[in-house]
Amino acid sequence: MTAGADGALRPIGADSVRRLCAGQVIVDLATSVKELVENSLDAGATQIEVRLRDSGLTSITVVDNGQGIAEAGHATACRRHWTSKIRSFEDVEGVATFGFRGEALSSLCAVGSVTVTTATRETAPMGVQLEYAADGELAAQTAVARERGTTVSVTGLFAKWPVRLQDLRKNIRREYLRLVALVEQYAIVSDGVRLTLTNQTRGGAATAAVRTQPQADRLARTVAVCGAALRPHLASLEHRAEGATTTAAGPPIAISGHVSKATPEAGRSAADKQYFFVNGRPCDFPRAKRLVNEMYRAHCPTRFPVYAISIAIDARSIDVNLTPDKRAILVRHEPQLLDALRHALTRVFEPDESAFSVSRVQ
Ligand code: ADP
Ligand code: MG
Repeated sequence: MTAGADGALRPIGADSVRRLCAGQVIVDLATSVKELVENSLDAGATQIEVRLRDSGLTSITVVDNGQGIAEAGHATACRRHWTSKIRSFEDVEGVATFGFRGEALSSLCAVGSVTVTTATRETAPMGVQLEYAADGELAAQTAVARERGTTVSVTGLFAKWPVRLQDLRKNIRREYLRLVALVEQYAIVSDGVRLTLTNQTRGGAATAAVRTQPQADRLARTVAVCGAALRPHLASLEHRAEGATTTAAGPPIAISGHVSKATPEAGRSAADKQYFFVNGRPCDFPRAKRLVNEMYRAHCPTRFPVYAISIAIDARSIDVNLTPDKRAILVRHEPQLLDALRHALTRVFEPDESAFSVSRVQ
């Protein structure tokens, strides 16, 4: 160790800080795509196309028909912590958009090359193509034809990060499947949006991995993602817990969505296609996942359920600002939430017993 041998502390240079932090926001292929899809949804898009070349190794392009980026935002869209969505920490509590930290585009600039083509209602059918440098500053712009919306292309992901690039290349199949799983979650939860994901591999035809129709309801979206064969085996979940229980106070909680019935033909051998959405945000919720799997496996010990479960709870009860990818959530009333989920699932997995307990209460 030579640095700091004199015991002095020194600030890390701004450029290095940017690169270090960027590597934490954009950790892999899936988060890159997730951030771009979230931006398109935040922009009110009803059509979002994710186009990959070589599973994203060569390029990731997300095309949307959202509101576009107005001229005033061209120079600053990729600046770190510049956002059009919040102005202060206090705004996070009620934030309705997926993004709010202004980190994604700046991080993508640091880990790859970013080009944005955008047009607003005012400028369409003319737009502008914007190229950004690694530090997120606008490097070049050209006038182009563009309908309202935004296209963001990222090429050479992790080209300057040899260890990550090597890891990505080695595990590209696994990384691609994780990416697909992530896009599937947005496809299920984004009502009114046509979301597609295609992958063009070298010398091969483009394959469509995800495709939803804007008019599809939640069941149709879930089936589009999880497979048509599942349709007869899906049960819908519907449960409302009116806040305070006898033991603890809490806000109202609504559970909805679909889960495969507790029969062997409805289950799977692997725990995939298991999706949670809290207030419309796809997220990891390990305790809830364990609960669903355990309840299911009490009936079908060798199988796992397929599910897409939405939970609506007062925004003040959750904190999504835990991890850079916002997938981890902290729930203030987690026991009540798990309890509500248990109730909802009991009705599906043990219909006779729940009918019995209801009649007993009456
Ligand atoms: P955040 O989403 O947290 O604001 P991002 O770095 O993801 O940060 O995006 C920065 C800004 O760029 C956004 O606040 C938004 O104003 C603009 N932007 C990014 N993508 C799009 C898009 N697809 N359509 C319209 N505006 C976009
Ligand atoms: Mg964003």
